[in-house]
Amino acid sequence: LQTKLPEVGTTIFTVMSALAAEHGAVNLGQGFPDFDCDPALVQGVNAAMLEGLNQYPPMAGVAPLRTAVAAKLQDFYGRRYDTATEITITAGATQAIITAVLAVVRPGDEVIVLEPCYDSYVPNIALAGGTVVRVPLTPHSFRPDFDRIAAAITPRTRAILVNTPHNPSGTCWSAQDMGRLEELLAPTEVLVISDEVYEHMVFDGREHQSIARFPGLAARGFIVSSFGKTFHVTGWKVGYVAAPAALTAEFRKVHQFNVFTVNTPVQHGIARYMADPAPARELPAFYQRKRDLFREGLARTRLDLLPCEGTYFQCADISRVSDLSEPAFCEWLVREIGVAAIPMSAFYGGGFEQRVVRFCFAKKDETLRAALGRLARL
Ligand code: PMP
Ligand code: GLN
Repeated sequence: LQTKLPEVGTTIFTVMSALAAEHGAVNLGQGFPDFDCDPALVQGVNAAMLEGLNQYPPMAGVAPLRTAVAAKLQDFYGRRYDTATEITITAGATQAIITAVLAVVRPGDEVIVLEPCYDSYVPNIALAGGTVVRVPLTPHSFRPDFDRIAAAITPRTRAILVNTPHNPSGTCWSAQDMGRLEELLAPTEVLVISDEVYEHMVFDGREHQSIARFPGLAARGFIVSSFGKTFHVTGWKVGYVAAPAALTAEFRKVHQFNVFTVNTPVQHGIARYMADPAPARELPAFYQRKRDLFREGLARTRLDLLPCEGTYFQCADISRVSDLSEPAFCEWLVREIGVAAIPMSAFYGGGFEQRVVRFCFAKKDETLRAALGRLARL
């Protein structure tokens, strides 16, 4: 069989979660909370089911949820998106991203990805017949290098994929960074696919720099987010895309054939829950406390902590602890220490090594303490 994705195997998240289970390790690898969501959110979904909201919803998503998303975007980022023509509810961010890519990338188009990056981007572009143009973020500090981005843009560049707050590094783009991107793209027709799933996990008083805040980016951009991250329900797989009407029209052409519609009662439950903006507003403080607890513990080891400005990921340099490669270290860590982490090299096409691993701290305090107890040997 001629394979369409010769380089793709099982994702590192699946592999590490299985290894963690096999060895009884504390799983700080795959990014997901080990605590439950607010029961009120579940009650809202249950109520919708009991009210008989159980059949196909409108293709673009149920009206109350699109309205709630528009209100949220206006409230947080000051930009108005039209609920009828500019917001589409998706089956998580994963489906949103591949749908956006399939909607705009034609065979032979170039698409810029900034490495390290989330593992679905590159295969998505390949499936669309596009050419992946990899531009590294600065090694170890994971900042956008605008000279390199500028050099990568050609007349065939169709889109650039950006992600802030950034998985896996935990860095956040500043307003200046976004301004530079806006300036750089102004004379071009390059589209932006902006993965903002960690938009509500930003620390130390930072504000998330959504492309919605930058008119020149918003006009050419798809904003992707995920309720799974914001409301601690990664298994529900519901998210959204906000984009100008012309882009949304193209997006929906693909969406209606790769998923058509998304779970009706969950959409209603989330819409009801979003009537109160507090949960999203309180998320930065909630995760900052966990970040600080985890960092304080790791600081007592010989791991060297990288800054964590956002997301629920903490990265650490392993150089003082081990000579092993990142994947070998992660395997050793799970077997010998009993903690699962993800090698940073997994987020690079070429497996670039810089002695950094990623831990997820979206865990109960007791889980974090249990992990820290084991990691204290490092
Ligand atoms: N993008 C990034 C950067 C992510 O970390 C994730 C979560 N795994 C996703 C997209 C996918 O989100 P979802 O689970 O909503 O599909
Ligand atoms: N986004 C999560 C992570 O980066 C995992 C999602 C997945 O398993 N594909 O760990």
